[in-house]
Amino acid sequence: MSRKVEVRRSARRKRTVSAYFDGDTMVVLIPARMSSAEEEHWVAEMERKLLRGKNRRVSPARQSDEALMQRCRELSAQYLDGDAQPTSVRWVPPMRTRWASCTPAEGTIRVSDRLRDVPAWVLDYILVHELAHLRVAAHNKEFWALCARYPKTERAIGYLEGLSAAAGLGLTELD
Ligand SMILES: [Zn+2]
Repeated sequence: MSRKVEVRRSARRKRTVSAYFDGDTMVVLIPARMSSAEEEHWVAEMERKLLRGKNRRVSPARQSDEALMQRCRELSAQYLDGDAQPTSVRWVPPMRTRWASCTPAEGTIRVSDRLRDVPAWVLDYILVHELAHLRVAAHNKEFWALCARYPKTERAIGYLEGLSAAAGLGLTELD
């Protein structure tokens, strides 16, 4: 994909570089005295940063337990016949071996703070997984059939495996 880049040099700018997208054009603001090699470096660097930010698309559910509960209601309605209603959903400090956990008898779900920064579609998978446990406690065929209603389940499992491996966490199981 080719992008238009517009570099603006500013005499007032001393050290900082910033950038933003204006439609298809990436505008990069740099100090006036930068060399063209530095300019080239920073254009590439800022493009990488901006695109990464764009692709991440974190979930609004990251903001609070209430936002998390709201997202659970939406996902339950969309994929689980509105039939998986937790009594509480909470962000919790990172757990040693789990991304999230659920106590079906009490209807409670806990989600690791480690997941606050994953893309929204990955967090959605985690929530669908835990919500499905409110209907089927075991990881059996019936359970995975419920999870499979969420179209990005396979991809999200792959993403989480990669994340776990990259962080050296050994977190592969959801509970
Ligand atoms: Zn599970």
